[in-house]
Amino acid sequence: VVVDGRARGIVVRDLVSGVVGSCAGDAVVLATGGYSNVYYLSTNAKGCNVTAIWRAHRRGAAFANPCFTQIHPTCIPQTGHHQSKLTLMSESLRNDGRIWVPKRKGDARPPREIQESERDYFLERLYPSYGNLVPRDVASRRVKEVCDEGRGVGPGGYGVYLDFADAIARLGRHVIAERYGNPAPHYTMGGLWVDYNLMTTIDGLYAIGEANFSDHGANRLGASALMQGLADGYFILPYTIGDYLAQVKLGQVGTDHTAFRQVEREVSERVERLLAARGRTTPDAFHRELGRLMWDKCGMSRNAQGLKETLQKIAALGERFARDVYVGGKGEEFNQTLEHAGRVADFFELAELMCRDALHREESCGSHFREEFQTPEGEAKRDDARFGYVAAWEYAGAGKAPVLNKEPLEFEVVHPAQRSYV
Ligand SMILES: Cc1cc2nc3c(=O)[nH]c(=O)nc-3n(C[C@H](O)[C@H](O)[C@H](O)COP(=O)(O)OP(=O)(O)OC[C@H]3O[C@@H](n4cnc5c(N)ncnc54)[C@H](O)[C@@H]3O)c2cc1C
Repeated sequence: VVVDGRARGIVVRDLVSGVVGSCAGDAVVLATGGYSNVYYLSTNAKGCNVTAIWRAHRRGAAFANPCFTQIHPTCIPQTGHHQSKLTLMSESLRNDGRIWVPKRKGDARPPREIQESERDYFLERLYPSYGNLVPRDVASRRVKEVCDEGRGVGPGGYGVYLDFADAIARLGRHVIAERYGNPAPHYTMGGLWVDYNLMTTIDGLYAIGEANFSDHGANRLGASALMQGLADGYFILPYTIGDYLAQVKLGQVGTDHTAFRQVEREVSERVERLLAARGRTTPDAFHRELGRLMWDKCGMSRNAQGLKETLQKIAALGERFARDVYVGGKGEEFNQTLEHAGRVADFFELAELMCRDALHREESCGSHFREEFQTPEGEAKRDDARFGYVAAWEYAGAGKAPVLNKEPLEFEVVHPAQRSYV
């Protein structure tokens, strides 16, 4: 809730009773995590969503680098379309495991029957120096490529083998599962734009942790999310928020202020709209369809044609959602379908922004791999001269194109350079 240009509170819907209520304050901190669940299947908890930061974006907080999303290379393989969650496995498995698929498309023989000469250890072949230890984004992208070629293994062909035979022979381990390896959306580097004080473009609104865009650029290194959480919450925010409160003169604003009534009304109207649709399709089915689109066209690798088509498909799917979603039940009760419907509606809008961001960034960098911009060896080709900036998108209103603001990146000590793992 924004009063006189400053964040002065929030409006919430109680998930148990369904009652819409308000909390007023002198500042607001969002620590609501990342948005990997836009892909439907991810390593995040099922309840993770984008709603809080998306609502803030719609109120004026810029959203930075939404297309920078990290796909983790090692999760337990997906078994089919019925699945609703992906489970991460320790990345240390890649230290000893050798990743391979059969050379021949559609080869469904058990792995033991596939001879060494018939196996493609594709990461070792493509990256002789780094082999199976290439960074997350590179490994995940190559895994998806071989699966798309029809050489994936396991149910649905979504997996690759992570083979411990050599490690077992070498280290004497006897019980290591034979088939592992499958990429999964895991972390989102994009999020609300914040300054060094962790304040968004709305005065008094702070975003910390995975909810903001800071620290990780286009690709987060393993373990640094928890570092960021600690730094933001313990070392930075307690000082910067105090500094803000000491500098501004805030008038008394309580939940009886008209701004709260207005937002509560908007929330209730939104709930009523979702309940009124009376369609035939569950929010989950829409979410799954959206996730598949994003995974295919705005996931590990992207291209202009795919992104343009996806923008059209998201718009069409969003229209169908408004008409055909079925929620059932009431607003003022425990209603998880209603809860999910609201989140899926926000994921539609976010997905559109992610595709726009990915489309405008005509380079490859970090997790953002544009197929048109790659080196002859198939590596990401940067274009720092044109794209060395943070893309901070501003909401311009429903049905209007968002406005792109560019925050130039200045490198004083370490300069960005072309990566090569060949
Ligand atoms: C399986 C897995 C393993 C990981 N391993 C590592 C690791 O080894 N090292 C590392 O550094 N990082 C790791 N990460 C990443 C790291 O855990 C996350 O980036 C980090 O926990 C994010 O912290 P956060 O506090 O910003 O958000 P979260 O921990 O996601 O917390 C956000 C909270 O806000 C709540 N919330 C969301 N929306 C709303 C709303 N609208 N209203 C009310 N509440 C809301 C959520 O329910 C959640 O409790 C891992 C992530 C996963 C998924």
